[in-house]
Amino acid sequence: MAKRIYFLAIAFIFMFLPSSLAQEWQELKGEHFIAYFTQEQKFAKEVLASAEVYYQRIASDLGYPRYNDFWLWDKRVKIYIYPDHASYVKATGQPEWSEGAAEYKNKKIASFSGSKGFLKSILPHEVAHLIFRDFVGFVGEVPLWLDEGVAQWEEEIKRKDMKLTAKELYKEDSLLSIEDMMKLDIRNIKDKNSVYIRTYYLQSVSLVGFLIERYGSERFAEFCRQLRDGKTLEAALSFAYPTNIGSLKDLDNEWRQYLGKQ
Ligand SMILES: [Zn+2]
Repeated sequence: MAKRIYFLAIAFIFMFLPSSLAQEWQELKGEHFIAYFTQEQKFAKEVLASAEVYYQRIASDLGYPRYNDFWLWDKRVKIYIYPDHASYVKATGQPEWSEGAAEYKNKKIASFSGSKGFLKSILPHEVAHLIFRDFVGFVGEVPLWLDEGVAQWEEEIKRKDMKLTAKELYKEDSLLSIEDMMKLDIRNIKDKNSVYIRTYYLQSVSLVGFLIERYGSERFAEFCRQLRDGKTLEAALSFAYPTNIGSLKDLDNEWRQYLGKQ
């Protein structure tokens, strides 16, 4: 008898578990994205609408105009919005400070409901990573600074500040050389507030911004296409920017000149 009561009690508990614990996903479908959420539909709706707007803007910023047919139907990107920060961290294995993440191969983005900065910053950042990766593929020699630079450039809300800080670092002469950036294994630096990491990320976005603003989106797309097709970084640069950039040293010089004129 005691056993039976015990089972009933268990069944009772399971029946009344809050739905968030059972993680029953509800979905909202857009043209290129599907948003999954458990509680707050309003936030999910905003996420989906913003993602579609970013998609168009990023493809055109990067010079990928025929990108429109990607990510339709079963190729749509899935955005998982966990109910809170703790469940997001637990499910994704991301570090405690993380507010959002993307999985390139499975075309998934994850964050949590009400995440500060997700809509304006992290979402365009992660969508840019996915679009960029789709375009350049996984075979070519794509440096981390280019990948992170593209993603940060699309955090439009931070652009002005990032430009100002890059200019300050230039004036103080505290920029790393691009050669040093290529050698720095940023993923092995544990402290995310390390001055190297901050400088590295800032320079990444500044370099991408320089290439796009100075020479335009079409040439930038050509540069990416060359990387995708297996050219080395220097070969891709000199193919896309034949009269200005023949080497990493040239890129470094041209970029510093541009910062000096900002
Ligand atoms: Zn990133």
